[in-house]
Formats: sequence, C-alpha cells, structure tokens
Amino acid sequence: PEKVMHKLVSLAKRRGFIFPSSEIYGGLSSCFDYGPLGSEMKKNIKDLWWNAMTRRHQNIVGIDASIMMNPTVWEASGHVASFNDPLIDEKTTKRRYRADHLIENHIEKLRRDGREDHALAVRQAYEQASETEDQNRALYDIIVSEEIKAPDTGANDWTDVRQFNLMFQCNMGAVAGSGGSVYLRPETAQGIFVNFHNVREAARMKVPFGIAQIGKAFRNEIVKGNFIFRMVEFEQMEMQYFVKPGTQQEAFEDWREERFNWYTEVLGISRDKLHWYRHDKLAHYADLAYDIKFQFPFGIEEIEGIHSRTDFDLKQHQEYSGKNMEYIDQTTNERYIPYVVETSSGCDRLFLALLSDAYTEDIVDGDERVVLKLSVKVAPVKAAVLPLMKKGEMGERASKLRDELAASFRVQYDDAGSIGKRYRRQDEIGTPFCFTVDHQTLEDNTVTVRYRDSAEQERMPISNVREFLALQLV
Ligand code: ATP
Repeated sequence: PEKVMHKLVSLAKRRGFIFPSSEIYGGLSSCFDYGPLGSEMKKNIKDLWWNAMTRRHQNIVGIDASIMMNPTVWEASGHVASFNDPLIDEKTTKRRYRADHLIENHIEKLRRDGREDHALAVRQAYEQASETEDQNRALYDIIVSEEIKAPDTGANDWTDVRQFNLMFQCNMGAVAGSGGSVYLRPETAQGIFVNFHNVREAARMKVPFGIAQIGKAFRNEIVKGNFIFRMVEFEQMEMQYFVKPGTQQEAFEDWREERFNWYTEVLGISRDKLHWYRHDKLAHYADLAYDIKFQFPFGIEEIEGIHSRTDFDLKQHQEYSGKNMEYIDQTTNERYIPYVVETSSGCDRLFLALLSDAYTEDIVDGDERVVLKLSVKVAPVKAAVLPLMKKGEMGERASKLRDELAASFRVQYDDAGSIGKRYRRQDEIGTPFCFTVDHQTLEDNTVTVRYRDSAEQERMPISNVREFLALQLV
C-alpha cells in the first residue's frame, strides 16, 4: 500500500495534478496545490456534484457563503465548546498524538492478535470515557494502564490528555465581542443554516427543500499525513435538506441511496471499494448518521457523511440570534422548525479516491504502461489530437480538429515523439480518447480513435469526432 501511495504522489506531481504547497520553501505540512490537470479534474468533480444536486432537483438551490462569519455562529453551533480533539504528548520524544486514535489502534491490534475479550473490555472502557465527567483523565488512564506505546518510536512516558480546538482563529480589525477573534469556518454547513430564511424567501422555497454549497473549510488537524486525505485547508461539498419533523427518516433513506449511486454511476467508482458505515456513537446534533467509506490504499476511510441533524442547528441559531427560525406551511398553517438531513462530502478526499481507484498498471502491445482509468466525465483531458507527422498537411488537419474540439472540450495536442510514446503520455493522465491524423486522413477524411482502456483503435469520419465526444459526456 505504501508503494501505491508513493506512485500516486509521484505521478500526481510529475504530471501536474498535485504539488506540495510552497514547495521551494520546503512546503507546509498538509497543504497542497492543484496543478494544471488537478485543477481541471477538481473542477469536473465539483461541476458533477453541483449539477447532480441543483440542476437535477428543482427544490435544491445553491449559495456561496463567506468563510468568515460572525463569531457567535460558532458558539451557537457548538464548535467553540466542543469541536475538539483529545491530544497527548510523549514526554521523551515530544511527539503529539490523538489520544482517541491511540486507543482505537490499540483495540484494533488486540483484535488482530486474537485477544477479542480484552479488546472488548478496552472498547467498553473507551466508550464509557466519553460519558465521564473527566473525559481526559479517563482516556489517559486507558493509555497508561494498557501500556500503549507511541506507534513510531515505542516510547511511553505520557503527559496528561488535553482538548485541542480544531478551529483556526484569526484577528479581524475590530469585531464586537470575542475580543476581535474570528474563525475560519471548519465546515460549510453553518453558512447554509444562517441563510435559511434568506434563501427560503428569495427563492420562494417550500419545505422540503435543500441548499447546496461548495467551499473551503479549515481544520487545525494535528495528525496529518496520507497526502490529500487529511488537510488543514480543504473543500467541502455539502447539501442541507430541510424537511418537516417526522419525515426525516424517509428523506434520509432517499439521500443515502442517491448519494451512493452518484459515486458508482456518475463517477464510475468500483462498487466493491465503497462501504457503508453506521455510526453507533452519534454527534451531539445527530439522530442518525452513516458514512460512505472508500477502500484507499492505506485503509477503508470516510469520503462522505450523511447525517440526520434534527432541528439542532436552527434551534441553536434561534436561541443565539433571537430570530425566529420557524417555517410556516402556507397550506396547513402549521409552524415548525424544520429537521435537516445533510450530505457532506470532501472534494479533496474524493479526488484521492478517484485517483487511487483509477490507477492501473497493465500491459498493452507487449509494453508495460501506467493508465488512469478515470471516467470520461472526471478525466481532466477528454481527448488528445495527434498528427502522425508534425509537418505538412497532417499537422494542419490536426490543428484544425484541435481548434474545433477545444471550443467545447479540454483537449491536448501533441506532436512530439513516437506515436506509441504519445499514447502512453495520455494513458498516464487518463485521457479516454486519442484521435490520430494519418496518411489515410488525407485521402478519405477519417481519423483513428484509440480507446484508452482497451488500446483498441477504429476509424471514424473526422466530421463525427465532435458529436462522438459530446455523446460520451451525457
Ligand atoms: P474525519 O473523521 O476523517 O476527520 P469527519 O467525520 O470529521 O472526518 P465531517 O466533519 O463529517 O468529517 O466532514 C465531511 C467530509 O469532509 C468528510 O467526509 C471528508 O470527506 C471531508 N473532510 C473532513 N475533514 C477533512 C480534512 N481534514 N481534509 C480533507 N477532507 C476532510
């Protein structure tokens, strides 16, 4: 698995998908830049999500809220008080760890070693820890009594457990209250909740309806790593669906099904790499929660959360803002604070899932190759136009085809090196089709189309190419 990740990271950099942030200065931990192909592919992912949410549903509209908000928002939402990770330091090495992760990994290890009973006992103590008054102490006690060692050094002289808030705080000129501190939002959802009435009124929405948003979120994650899986600055694609209380279960099931199908049917992710995970331990605001997980090279991990958030958020905002958050049903005159079902997915994590799902090494025409088997919709470059020979009429005909296609699709033109090399270059970035202009083109106005996955080729009239591509994208 490490080898696969290594290959992905190196391909991503070499071909311009993802670079380390500010690399010439040695980078910055957990920050990355999307390069020419990466930004193209990420835009495709976001467009596909946006269309699936807002275009396909008459009752879902989008917003683009600001990253910084009135700080009271984060008191109301509970983030100031409880968006914390429990941290512990190893005294001799001065390394910092998540206390909950140390314990969870320890339980996993006990299971792997066949010590099921012991694992169960630790699991119970761990679950009880979250209910005791002094949670930090309870976590510390488990770590010490189980003699849990630091995973990378084996040392085990621990400090106390402390809660560490994940929100980035910064100072703004002068803000009333909170001593001028504002936060970078740790989730996009709150921008939607506080705009509930604005959107409802402006867009004349009736419950049930949804508000969708794509935007940056920031979390001061202590345990980083695994490339773009866990970043401190990342992009979320979230949709909050407002329903009448009592109907949330049905809405939840509908969204669960629709979201899962989006990954397989629209993005083309292998079904056997996707898993459902039901939360036993629910967040304070939720009455039901499932994650969609993906089989990454380093393990099965969350890519999207689907949560039934009850009326927690709107109620909190009603209390803290003093504004009425009720909805009035015009036909029945009923008044209520809507319940919320949310779908919350991470664009960067999904990007990594798509890359690792697509990464393939195989042999075509007796040659080993690396190929990204991305779906046509996700692929950053839809087609390459390749003149067999650079100069003369072939080059001219190919340039003309390139210009024609470029009006509607991201295409690449490549006339450097042998045709075989050029195919490999396109395979490696996941270009689904290569159109080659050759001798026969000059005689009968046909080109060859080469299919990325099978490496098979066939001829088609040059005048059909545009429509052929358009059909692949519907
Ligand atoms: P995790 O347990 O992995 O930290 P989470 O349960 O805190 O994730 P949510 O708060 O449910 O995550 O956020 C919704 C989605 O946002 C996640 O499914 C994930 O795709 C994405 N996400 C959350 N944190 C990060 C991060 N640090 N880097 C990249 N994506 C993230």
